[in-house]
Amino acid sequence: APQRRTSATGTDTHCPYCALQCAMRLEPADDGRLAVQPRDFPTNQGGLCQKGWTAAELLAVRDRITTPMVRDAGGELRAATWQEAYERIVSAIRAAQRADGPDAVAVFGGGGLTNEKAYSLGKFARVALGTALIDYNGRFCMSSAAAAGNRAFGLDRGLPFPLADLGGADAVLLVGSNPAETMPPMTRHLAGARQRGGLIVIDPRHSATAALTDDGAGLHLQPLPGTDVVLLLGLLHAVIAASGTDDDYLAARVEGWDAVAAASTCWWPERTQQATGVPAGQIREAAELLVAAAPHRGGAGAYVISGRGAEQHAHGTDTVTAAINLALALGLPGRVGSGYGCLTGQGNGQGGREHGQKCDQLPGYRSITDAQARAHVAKVWGVDPDAIPGPGRPAVELLDSLGRPGGPRVLFVHGANPAVSAPDAGAVRERLGSLDLLVVADFVPSATARLADVVLPVPQWAEEDGTMTSLEGRILRRARATDPPDGVRDELVIWAQLAELLGAPVKFATDPVEVFAELGRASAGGRADYAGADHERVAREPVYWPCPDREHSGTPRMFLDRFATPSGRALAVVPSVVGVDDDLREGARTYLLTGRVLRQYQSGAQTARVAALGRPSEHRFAEVHPLTAHRIGVEDGTPVRITSARGSFVAPTRVTTAVRPDCVFVPFHGDGDDQFCNDLTNPATDPVSGMPEFKVCAVDVSAAEHG
Ligand code: SF4
Repeated sequence: APQRRTSATGTDTHCPYCALQCAMRLEPADDGRLAVQPRDFPTNQGGLCQKGWTAAELLAVRDRITTPMVRDAGGELRAATWQEAYERIVSAIRAAQRADGPDAVAVFGGGGLTNEKAYSLGKFARVALGTALIDYNGRFCMSSAAAAGNRAFGLDRGLPFPLADLGGADAVLLVGSNPAETMPPMTRHLAGARQRGGLIVIDPRHSATAALTDDGAGLHLQPLPGTDVVLLLGLLHAVIAASGTDDDYLAARVEGWDAVAAASTCWWPERTQQATGVPAGQIREAAELLVAAAPHRGGAGAYVISGRGAEQHAHGTDTVTAAINLALALGLPGRVGSGYGCLTGQGNGQGGREHGQKCDQLPGYRSITDAQARAHVAKVWGVDPDAIPGPGRPAVELLDSLGRPGGPRVLFVHGANPAVSAPDAGAVRERLGSLDLLVVADFVPSATARLADVVLPVPQWAEEDGTMTSLEGRILRRARATDPPDGVRDELVIWAQLAELLGAPVKFATDPVEVFAELGRASAGGRADYAGADHERVAREPVYWPCPDREHSGTPRMFLDRFATPSGRALAVVPSVVGVDDDLREGARTYLLTGRVLRQYQSGAQTARVAALGRPSEHRFAEVHPLTAHRIGVEDGTPVRITSARGSFVAPTRVTTAVRPDCVFVPFHGDGDDQFCNDLTNPATDPVSGMPEFKVCAVDVSAAEHG
């Protein structure tokens, strides 16, 4: 094979995986491959986790796809030319849209795509395919936090402050987040709070992050799954009871406070204990820690941070709202040294949600139903505003409609693996199988790619040029370090070529620099304004959005003077208290919790192929409490069967007191394995955000040989 060109001096870049986007350098190694070296950067402070250290191995995966593939009459995927693949795609689109209209074609994107690709994919869907039906896997990731942040502050930026600010705080409350496994270098920023005994972790499981509170470093509150909103109301009650609210802040900067305060009156600690299982004394202690740390009490500062554990619920938006209310009570958001934020998960989870992949949004985080926003974006795109379709359907609804009467018959999947990562994944695989044509662009044969009718081979992180936006809203340059293998074609080129074949009214740029400039124009004046950034600038110094022009230095800390709501004040909203959608019933006496492990990332499509991170089956296990293990007769290592209303899953038992007796925990990675934990999870969604309830569902647990 011809030698791939790589920079002889090395390339500064960022990790291919999570939203921490740790800085690294790819340098040529003696064996001709690239090797990872960590770089110092405020977020990772020179650290990397095992996933980052081994990231260069991804460039040499054995089953790399380097040629288009099409499914033949016998049902097998076989190598094809680009022309054949394109012809198959274009003729299926034409047939489907002729019969059923533009929405016969749909697009499912990803939070790992570069900003340039996230932007172009939204434009490709609406301008070239003419479909309203685009959404993406970020709907599974942090959409409840985005919805709650937008509702409360008028704008959602995961962390509206630099991550390093956490280091100076006296207290940090993590609600449903496990960075010690998902993004380990982040925990360096918790050291200050731990030293001062102020790290508080809410998690039904004694996770690696919860363990950081041990030995006097803080508190672990271990509620019954699905009761976080009650626990947060109980904490608010305790803050109010301790006269800990920042009344001047509430009067000056918050609307709707009285109703929220009133809603907390019935959640005194003892009643909260009854509902959540968290001891009343712990609730009071946590409230006292937060009050003492709050700036109005002379503390060094406090942060409330939410993660997937709070968000991935059928009422996740309200749970995050309850966390925001607690932060508002203490006067934290919009203040230097304190605040509320969410830890975005996917590599470009932040940028991925700003540029038009969401079913209801246009670039710049603009609403697709806003006439002015449509006119602005239409002008940049060179199309009539009326030619831009209206809102589509959020991910779960979109996936469920595939192949049904009136639903899409052709689907494009870019940067996602819904066959593994969607809730009730078995049903989703069935829907994918019912399509006229499934097109998957990927660089490895993921579980979704293996179901495709057409597979398009694309570059991966170090082979493409672009930008990413980290969890703190900082735009980072991810420069190309090596050429992609022969046969691979960049998505920007694919979309431009398909757009031309489909007779799109405008041309699509293929140069990432040009696309980023267009993205900047499309976002200008919007809520996530990138107009002042360009590739050269962010390579020199990553910049925080909003950054409206070249002279603007970016916005590390938001909301210091006013929130982005019409009144400039934050909106406190009374959260509804609704239980778990898939509640315990006869025969299902345990809750299934899902999450990640240190050495795997998301569906596992990438990390499962890195030998140094272990075989996929090593990451299939079920944490079972000793009491449950005794009840059902399993021991460490023996197989346990977990069954929900949707599917069944067998895994070796890990007996541990880390989980409550009424819970089992299973990692949700699965690509490369023959069982998927998400076959069990519940597709019930949050009415505001459309996020599914991944984090809890009712299951029956039994010894596998008896199941
Ligand atoms: Fe950093 Fe996340 Fe990559 Fe680990 S996976 S090295 S925490 S960016």
